[in-house]
Amino acid sequence: MTSVRSPEVGDPPSADHPRAVDPALIHTLRTQLPHTGALRRAAAPFTGQPLPGVPQANPAAVAETARSARGAQDSWARTPIREREAVARRFARALIENHDLLCDLMQWETGKARVHAAIEVQGVISVASYYGRTGAEHLRGRRARTAVPGIVSARVGYRPKGLVGVIAPWNYPLFLAVGDVIPALVAGNAVLSKADSQAPWTLLLARKLAVEAGLPPAVWQVVAGSGAEIGSAVIDAVDYLCFTGSTATGRAIARQCADRLIGASLELGGKNPMIVCADADVDAAATGAVQACFSNAGQMCIGVERIYVHERVYSQFVDAFVGRTRRLRLGSDYTYATDMGSLTSRRQLETTTAHVEDAVAKGATVLTGGRPRPDVGPLFHDPTVLADVTAAMTVYAEETFGPVVSVYRVASEDEAVRLANEGEYGLSASVWTKDLGRGRALARLIVAGAVNVNDGYLSAIAALGAPMGGMRSSGVGRRHGREGIVRYTESQTVTTQRVPTPYPDRMRAGLLRVMNSTTRLKLALPSRFFMPQPFRGRR
Ligand code: NAD
Repeated sequence: MTSVRSPEVGDPPSADHPRAVDPALIHTLRTQLPHTGALRRAAAPFTGQPLPGVPQANPAAVAETARSARGAQDSWARTPIREREAVARRFARALIENHDLLCDLMQWETGKARVHAAIEVQGVISVASYYGRTGAEHLRGRRARTAVPGIVSARVGYRPKGLVGVIAPWNYPLFLAVGDVIPALVAGNAVLSKADSQAPWTLLLARKLAVEAGLPPAVWQVVAGSGAEIGSAVIDAVDYLCFTGSTATGRAIARQCADRLIGASLELGGKNPMIVCADADVDAAATGAVQACFSNAGQMCIGVERIYVHERVYSQFVDAFVGRTRRLRLGSDYTYATDMGSLTSRRQLETTTAHVEDAVAKGATVLTGGRPRPDVGPLFHDPTVLADVTAAMTVYAEETFGPVVSVYRVASEDEAVRLANEGEYGLSASVWTKDLGRGRALARLIVAGAVNVNDGYLSAIAALGAPMGGMRSSGVGRRHGREGIVRYTESQTVTTQRVPTPYPDRMRAGLLRVMNSTTRLKLALPSRFFMPQPFRGRR
């Protein structure tokens, strides 16, 4: 890899710069990227000042980096999975030890509030610890029944895909860009990450920590560049793609993966609903709504953007929710003193502003907020609650991906569920009721990959043993749990025949008659007699 010799003069001036991030660290992080001579600078959201230049790859550099990662994969796959798990656990410890530095970097490049950065670091520590303890268990082979039990046996095992590409957006540069890498590595793959142009530094620090934790450096490599310039080259180079981003980009990427006949998991957009039932704990629901709508300044795929409230508690809920929203403290500091940070890019601020202006022009009522906040920072926007939103308004069905939520009064839970299921997405949802059984029953009626009863968004994503992902236009595939690691593997069936002689055709005809009789018998027995058996021998 080519390194950049010197950090630019004027790179991080202290006033614009978190305490712990120094130019020497930035220089070290840069050396992990292949470089073609071009540097791209994004702006720090808190201040608008340029962030350090990021060495850009081109398609040839991507192909070369992919070759190097692929060359290292075989020996990594042969490393016993228990050792790969141990690297993940050491990585988790390194993340804990570097918690503050990771938060500093992440706030610097994304503008998120300290508390949201800290939750994100904690999330990835948990992912590394989870797959560091369960990877082998999830990928344990199993026996399968065969047509001729006793004579032919079958074992199913899981082989790594080979080289996995991971492309993730800027909003969660650790949880998404690194969290999805961990199970791929534990499964024995090499990984090629495409860093997002806005937020590559946290990812680069995490990769450095993983190498220090014992990961062979060639096994996980990072390239930087825009999707338009190097996205295709990444997809062309890998055996499987894990993509997180918008539905529009996801569709284009799916087409390219289809042409190459490689698998992909696509974690895409959402317009997530929350339902407040007549019997809900209204204060708790209002607090949960604030967290679900305004965490990460609303730039959260599983954030809530529409709330359906039963008419019996509508006024009470709206008062509590708006009151709590008004009390949120906006700010751009590197402490826990603020509740909501900045939007990350000018594009996000423009979309947020456009959605609010369009809604207001068409008759929506602003219950609180409604304006950009240049007095706090160049990309800040008020946390905003809208009422009287109609289907004619953009904000009704389109993802804002900013701190804007619409509140609707409904006459019944049935109506709430019907409205929650409107639209093209199906990522996450939230239901509030004191009757937990009723809550779970409503959850099962909602078209969403995850539904949180009496929580806004966090419970499902933090339940690492449970799969997480989208239905409909919110995506294909799942992260977390068994599904989150098995996706990075190919199942392989190995059959063994005790009597290696091929049967003569005459014998086959007899055998078929016996098999049909046995099948008739099996159809008469309960299906639990035919459950797969775990395989505990050598894999
Ligand atoms: P985006 O699709 O524009 O970009 C996401 C990433 O894809 C970026 O790193 C970008 O460089 C890359 N990219 C863009 N075009 C590409 C191409 N042709 N080939 C390869 N890579 C390409 O998304 P965004 O607007 O930056 O991110 C916000 C979106 O991501 C929202 O819609 C949000 O809901 C979604 N998201 C989904 C999840 C989830 O888990 N479902 C999580 C976070 C964000």
